[in-house]
Amino acid sequence: MKLLIDKPTDTLQRPLRDLRISVTDRCNFRCIYCMPKHLFGPDHAFLERAQILSFEEIARAVHLFASLGVSKIRITGGEPLIRKDLEKLINMISQVDNINDISLTTNGALLTQQKADSLVAAGVNRLTLSLDALDDECFKQINDVKFPVSRVLDAIDIAKQAGLSPVKVNMVVIKDVNVDQILPMVEYFRHKDVILRFIEFMDVGSTNQWQYDKVFNAKSIIELINNHYPIEPVTANYQGEVAKRWRYKDGGGEIGIIASVSQPFCGSCHRARLSAEGKLYTCLFANTGYDLRELIRSRANDQVILDKLHAIWSKREDRYSQLRGEHDAAKEKIEMSYIGG
Ligand code: SAM
Ligand code: SF4
Ligand code: SF4
Repeated sequence: MKLLIDKPTDTLQRPLRDLRISVTDRCNFRCIYCMPKHLFGPDHAFLERAQILSFEEIARAVHLFASLGVSKIRITGGEPLIRKDLEKLINMISQVDNINDISLTTNGALLTQQKADSLVAAGVNRLTLSLDALDDECFKQINDVKFPVSRVLDAIDIAKQAGLSPVKVNMVVIKDVNVDQILPMVEYFRHKDVILRFIEFMDVGSTNQWQYDKVFNAKSIIELINNHYPIEPVTANYQGEVAKRWRYKDGGGEIGIIASVSQPFCGSCHRARLSAEGKLYTCLFANTGYDLRELIRSRANDQVILDKLHAIWSKREDRYSQLRGEHDAAKEKIEMSYIGG
């Protein structure tokens, strides 16, 4: 049966282009800003295997999203490399028509050379690693599982060896936690074919004790770097690029700033998110998601699911970051480790 497909735009005329897929809600780190230990301890109820979408279910969802306009997929988590045989899923996704970009965000702890090579062979073409400090004590205090910096640096080299150059490195900047690590990170990654990206600390979820005064904003980050290593803006690669691009004037390479708090980019947000248990979210700051798993497992045919997805996107009004401050601060939001970054 031929499917009737028309690509939706939302109420703010934003098309659907990217899908972030969280493949697990579990993680081997307990980053203080994401999965604080006192809330994600031994008694925490993570999702059971049967609750999590299978690779076949994810691949089917990707196929349907692709026909609605999605061309970019990011695999995330929790820690995505915890999910066994992830390369099988990548391989399935890479065969879907219209999907031309598959990226992965990881903390790097489980990235061996063999794993990196097999992910690339399966179709991953971009990799982002997260590292919030170059100082071991500071990083261990953030990841809260005593994970050393050296092993993330090794993972970055492994990713490059696998041919994923330039690798991106995400650093979440939090006042009184790691602002003093900005310059050491800059110094280490300049001239190394690594794009260091500074992320403003976001009020995702309800457990990370976010406060506005803990945000070290993009303007301050740029000033600090520019005072030591002069930088200039670079034009965006494409409309809707999340990170604002800058480059060192001396040819030391590029950096990115993700200013979701101080300079929201909702106007060009073309992203949907699928949680590990198959809930669909149209905003990182949503408090409810649509149960796509139930629809998929109900044996609904592709047309029925497509119509539902089309209707959800067409009604989308989200622009949380632009409206931040007008919201009720007590409102429950979905956790980052559940929905993916
Ligand atoms: N575990 C993987 C990792 O850390 O790379 C993938 C999932 S993690 C949720 C994705 C990204 O979100 C990471 O770079 C992480 O630093 C970032 N992140 C998590 N919580 C955040 C917050 N509250 N504000 C800004 N970025 C955050
Ligand atoms: Fe795990 Fe990534 Fe969250 Fe850190 S940021 S706790 S590594 S999911
Ligand atoms: Fe997109 Fe929501 Fe973030 Fe705005 S707040 S950029 S709509 S995810």
